[in-house]
Amino acid sequence: MLNINELTNLCGKLGCRITPECSLSEYVTFRFGGKCRALININSADSAVEILRYIRAENVKYFVLGRGSNVIVSDEGFDGVILLFGSDFAHIEVTGNTIKCDAGALLASACVHAQQSSLTGMENLFGIPGTVGGALYMNAGAYGSEMADIVVSAEYIDENCERQFISRGNMELSYRHSIFYGTPLVITSVTIELSAGNADNIKEAMNNCMAKRSSKQPLEFPSAGSTFKRPDGSYASQLIEECGLKGFSCGGAEISEKHSGFVINKGYATCADVLELCSIVQKTVKEKTGFSLELEPVILK
Ligand SMILES: Cc1cc2nc3c(=O)[nH]c(=O)nc-3n(C[C@H](O)[C@H](O)[C@H](O)COP(=O)(O)OP(=O)(O)OC[C@H]3O[C@@H](n4cnc5c(N)ncnc54)[C@H](O)[C@@H]3O)c2cc1C
Repeated sequence: MLNINELTNLCGKLGCRITPECSLSEYVTFRFGGKCRALININSADSAVEILRYIRAENVKYFVLGRGSNVIVSDEGFDGVILLFGSDFAHIEVTGNTIKCDAGALLASACVHAQQSSLTGMENLFGIPGTVGGALYMNAGAYGSEMADIVVSAEYIDENCERQFISRGNMELSYRHSIFYGTPLVITSVTIELSAGNADNIKEAMNNCMAKRSSKQPLEFPSAGSTFKRPDGSYASQLIEECGLKGFSCGGAEISEKHSGFVINKGYATCADVLELCSIVQKTVKEKTGFSLELEPVILK
């Protein structure tokens, strides 16, 4: 059971910030969702171990959150503790061709460090919102590149609250999947390896990538990016368009006119609106094309 005073004392000892009854909408890119019992800003791997030991022993529900760019939060919120891997745990260190990132570092910051160190190989990932930990968890990717191409190793906390090391070969990386997916393993750092390149060319490639995103994606609206995984043999956006669902909406949630793979929040969407819209899309696409669309974001409830 959650004893907020004990947890607050523990966070105080570890130097981690804690916010009780925290509204989650500002911590996720979709910008809706209820409150959690408490949100803790993790500040180190050691603090994460101590906090996990406590909340696991007390059977407190918890969820590890990065930048919240692939999460749909329930309108009722989350009756547990959020462990936020964000700016309090975001150190990045470049040594030769390798970049070691704390799990809370932004993927975009890692890209900028790479560019400033004339390291090539992750330009196509520039513009994917979120943390390096979240990117490894989802094996995030874009424009023909993915985390699997650049990661060499990671550190994580296992189910017994022990710190572990894993190399790429054991990470089971495939399309939007890693060994961490759907497990209690908590990533604390990620090391990537790149090749020597030309800083100007790298910068140009990053800018081109960002320009492509802004021209094709509805970045002016809150969303969780592509709402459905790519089904084998087709594209979610193409199937949704074929079914005449572009622009279709439920409450404040809408299939983007600019990119039909994105569900956007027009400003007043609730979780219920998004889930209703997604379920209509899945049903219609299945009936009309035979393809099953699977949600890409993780639902937090
Ligand atoms: C506008 C937009 C564009 C996008 N474009 C792309 C794209 O091109 N390609 C792509 O792949 N994705 C894309 N996404 C989705 C999203 O950005 C990625 O999946 C991203 O990697 C998620 O990182 P995050 O830190 O936000 O993770 P979160 O959304 O916070 O979490 C996602 C999952 O990862 C888990 N997690 C996070 N950190 C850790 C950790 N340290 N240890 C264990 N588990 C953890 C969470 O528990 C959760 O289950 C886009 C999203 C948006 C909003």
